[in-house]
Amino acid sequence: MSLKVYNSLTRQKEVFTPIHPPYVGMYVCGPTVSGESHLGHARPFITFDVLFRYLLNLGYQVRYVRNITDAGHFEEEGREAEDKISSKATLEKLEPMELVHKYTRLYQWAMEQFNNLSPSIEPTATGHIVEQIEMIKTILADGYAYEVNGSVYFDVEKYHQVFSQKGQPYGILSGRILEDQLESTRALDHQDEKRNKSDFALWKKAPPEHIMRWQSPWGEGFPGWHIECSAMSSKYLGKEFDIHGGGMDLQFPHHECEIAQSTVCNHVMPARYWLHNNMITINGKKMGKSYNNVIKLTELFSGNHPLLSQPYSPQTIRFFILQSHYRGTLDFSNEALQASEKALKRLWEAYQWLMKKEPIEPTGLADENLNQSIRTLVAEMEEFMNDDLNTAKVLANLFELTSHINSVKDGHLPAGAIGLDTFQLLQQHMKRFVEDIFGLQGEHTANNGKLDGVLQLLIEIRKAAKSKKDFVTSDKIRQELAQLGVLLKDEKDGGVSYQFE
Ligand SMILES: [Zn+2]
Repeated sequence: MSLKVYNSLTRQKEVFTPIHPPYVGMYVCGPTVSGESHLGHARPFITFDVLFRYLLNLGYQVRYVRNITDAGHFEEEGREAEDKISSKATLEKLEPMELVHKYTRLYQWAMEQFNNLSPSIEPTATGHIVEQIEMIKTILADGYAYEVNGSVYFDVEKYHQVFSQKGQPYGILSGRILEDQLESTRALDHQDEKRNKSDFALWKKAPPEHIMRWQSPWGEGFPGWHIECSAMSSKYLGKEFDIHGGGMDLQFPHHECEIAQSTVCNHVMPARYWLHNNMITINGKKMGKSYNNVIKLTELFSGNHPLLSQPYSPQTIRFFILQSHYRGTLDFSNEALQASEKALKRLWEAYQWLMKKEPIEPTGLADENLNQSIRTLVAEMEEFMNDDLNTAKVLANLFELTSHINSVKDGHLPAGAIGLDTFQLLQQHMKRFVEDIFGLQGEHTANNGKLDGVLQLLIEIRKAAKSKKDFVTSDKIRQELAQLGVLLKDEKDGGVSYQFE
């Protein structure tokens, strides 16, 4: 059975056939580094890391491009649009590139904590201004954009008229009907430079106070958000590549705009397979500033957020995300995370035991039913992965295998109950799925787990010192940790938590 993925473009599962096997080109929209990454960002990056790992495991040579948006992302498409990086830099009193550096490092650190493999290329928008300008020039020359007062806008209605006839209307990916949008948004504020509200900026004129600005044929300005992904994906993966991924929230307008821009420039639909992960909700609610429930990754790792009852390790979060299918919704709750923490520990302990165990010589004790069950569970795991990356079902099988392993480990079955061949098959596939494809690590093998252990030990020593009224020692521990940037906090219930500065 070959790998099938759900293609958002055709709205069905399709057999994955690369354009130039054994090479695979994959582009995933990366973060806007104007602030810290939060729980919602963890899902696409872990989901596509597992796809990257699986494709490598299947023997493909994958070029995985995940960009960093360090310019050009703005919420408002109105006349006064301001770049998110620019406005945040003003707020934090930092040079824009200082701000970008700070949050890029924090993001890359979090990706390492999750044990995500590094993408092959991590290009930045500011490093590709020239390529973006070139694309905009082509779009203008072909008549699908117009310039107003130093800004350039993509003409969505024109594109739609022409490309609908070629079977590629604007809205092809998201299923949105442009005519409906035009009807409801026809009345434009007379201040707006755009002809239609659905038009989007390719280039914005920089107002005098705007700190991020580049020279262009249209004067000093900065690029729109969507154009960077078109420019960078075609530069590194070619005009037509295999996979484009991202969160479902990017389908419209971001990916729709990418398709329009790239198709005008390159005369071909940029990617064959469009994959989108679903969102994470928090206790049943959408995550958002208005609900006051955005949990940053550093807060998750330290437990320092009102919605968290404890810290959660990056591995627990990774496991939690893989417990559901990437296209399904996933609801965060402390109970669910605690269950994931326990389950991961159980899986990891059995896995560690299995990997250290020498295969057993045949003893005539092999339990044929058990061996058959193991072989079936192992074979099914690949089928589940091939069925649109059903990590949830793979994990269910890993747990059945864990039960089998434990029955031998705990002495309920004799050591020879698993035959030699089956034992080796089991070791090989447990390693393949647990470590190579899922990228899981036990808490004690991840750095964060070690650090957590050391800090818990210091907290215990400090508690013991306090109970003996040895305040010199307890204060020394607190102060010296603070100097290292680790702040201890005495909780009301008598517990102690810590957070990193
Ligand atoms: Zn993008």
